Amino acid sequence: MSQVPSITLNDGWTMPQLGYGVYQVPPEEAADSVRTAIEAGYRSIDTAALYGNEEGVGKAIAECGVAREDLFITTKLWNDRQGYDEALRAFDESIGKLGLEYVDLYLIHWPAPGQDLYVPTWKAFEKLRADGRVRSIGVSNFQIPHLRRLFEETDVMPALNQIELHPNLQQGDLRSFHHEHDIATEAWSPLGQGKGLLDDGTLGNLAQKYDKSPAQIVLRWHLQLGNVVIPKSVTPSRIRDNINVFDFELADDDLAVIAALETGKRVGPDPDVLGA
Ligand code: NAD
Repeated sequence: MSQVPSITLNDGWTMPQLGYGVYQVPPEEAADSVRTAIEAGYRSIDTAALYGNEEGVGKAIAECGVAREDLFITTKLWNDRQGYDEALRAFDESIGKLGLEYVDLYLIHWPAPGQDLYVPTWKAFEKLRADGRVRSIGVSNFQIPHLRRLFEETDVMPALNQIELHPNLQQGDLRSFHHEHDIATEAWSPLGQGKGLLDDGTLGNLAQKYDKSPAQIVLRWHLQLGNVVIPKSVTPSRIRDNINVFDFELADDDLAVIAALETGKRVGPDPDVLGA
């Protein structure tokens, strides 16, 4: 069984540095996939109201035989539920589908700045945290100006920002900002969704050198940078491979080789535009 290190968040709670993401895992497959992941050693699961599979995730949690306190469950509030009262209602729905008493981490999925509701939404998150229904509260896809606004207008700092991050989009400015403010960086699409990135010849060469797959090389790069990662796969052998990344270390010059893969190209939407 692999040993996934934990990181400590700015509110004192800890979370595994590597977890299992379930975006695009069909609802009817979610329970089996999450069960496979838990059997492989994953203890952190990343879902969202948008993914439509919170019930399947909840079923796997209920049936997996691992104690609730040994699991770390993240879900997210979708854009059309922003606003103070609406966010509280949406949380009730999510936690009901998951069948849980509390979630470990609740995230605002996108800032949706055109709606201009993320400040009252965050105040609802602060209440959920104060009520003990959520342990840590965080955001996703927030840019520096959105984070600054939360600092100015609300009381609790986000514990974490989950952002698109992979070797083609390394998010240097946001990562430095997070570091300065003690906000954890969580990488979504850590493998660049597989397409293109994992076929890169540079990664292929490193994979040969370390006797690992390109996906394992990329995940190791994230971990050595200090990112939290949540790779997704529905293929059991890949689910297992993606957590088998704690028995090797990339040399500094190989980290530099991967750093040279930056293109600035997103695989997902622009956070300043989506959900407006
Ligand atoms: P990812 O980078 O994890 O890539 C997943 C794809 O890579 C798989 O579908 C498969 O095609 C391929 N892959 C996975 N393991 C592989 C392996 N070992 N070898 C070869 N190919 C492999 O992309 P993702 O699913 O977009 O992101 C991961 C998680 O991040 C999601 O499941 C979700 O939980 C989260 N996410 C969050 C947001 C957000 O807005 N907050 C957006 C997208 C994803």
